[in-house]
Amino acid sequence: MNEGEESELEVPAEVHTVCQYCGGGGMIADPKLAIIGGTPRTVDNGRPCAHCETVGHFAGIVPPV
Ligand SMILES: [Zn+2]
Repeated sequence: MNEGEESELEVPAEVHTVCQYCGGGGMIADPKLAIIGGTPRTVDNGRPCAHCETVGHFAGIVPPV
């Protein structure tokens, strides 16, 4: 009789999926050519991830598209 052997699986209370688009950072690299001080150079200010709205992850499990 091995009743009561219910394994308690550790399920996180809040399951979330890291955003595939920004990698969880909430920002996407957005290099632009800019002239600074008369010198053309690349500026990467980044831009907010429109996919996850800069949250970086989604609630629940979202399969990669
Ligand atoms: Zn994102």
